[in-house]
Amino acid sequence: EIDPLNTIAIKVVPAKDARVVALAPGLPDDFFENDGQLTKAEIRALTLAALAPRAGELLWDIGLGAGSVGIEWCLRHPRNRCIGIEERPERAERARRNALDLGATDLDIRIGRAPEALTNLPAPDAIFIGGGASESGVSEAAWAALKPGGRLVINGVTLETETLLGTLYAQHGGTMRRLAVSRLGPVGGMHGWRAAMPVTQWTVTK
Ligand code: SAH
Repeated sequence: EIDPLNTIAIKVVPAKDARVVALAPGLPDDFFENDGQLTKAEIRALTLAALAPRAGELLWDIGLGAGSVGIEWCLRHPRNRCIGIEERPERAERARRNALDLGATDLDIRIGRAPEALTNLPAPDAIFIGGGASESGVSEAAWAALKPGGRLVINGVTLETETLLGTLYAQHGGTMRRLAVSRLGPVGGMHGWRAAMPVTQWTVTK
């Protein structure tokens, strides 16, 4: 049958399994291929808020892991950039795949160990430390490199990192908070809350 108005109706059907990358940070965990070392969605959303990205800024993501924080930083604005530092090559490669999948083109990945791998990098507007914070010289190098007005956010799950964060808080001020998230999961035929390890987060502006 001929369409009398000669119009063409286009029906847009999403590709099977296509998923929408929403505008807000805190994307679902399974958007990121990972080996379990991942800043989980709820904590990630609050971490991004603490990092307080502005258009065109540079983040250092130290202990890049699967790359979720650096990737979400890049997705906030087309001009946002991130340098990700990761000592384990297979994780760096995984982060590269995740960045490609999610369209975070400005994630620059450096395989290496902090603090050595931090020398000669361009000064950042914000730094996130998700791994390596308790190693000698890492927090000092991060603080020294940060631009004035820049934000430093460190997440810790171990007592040792938490102790360090207490010392840094005493030295530099800032804010400390403890984030505890439980998600509902199956318990036999019913459901119950599964608690993730609490995260201690220290944020400071230089
Ligand atoms: N925020 C990440 C997860 C980080 S897990 C995400 O959401 O994907 C912590 C990572 O830090 C691990 O991959 C570990 O290999 C890395 N790491 C630990 N110490 C490091 C150091 N000194 N230098 C570089 N990477 C380090």
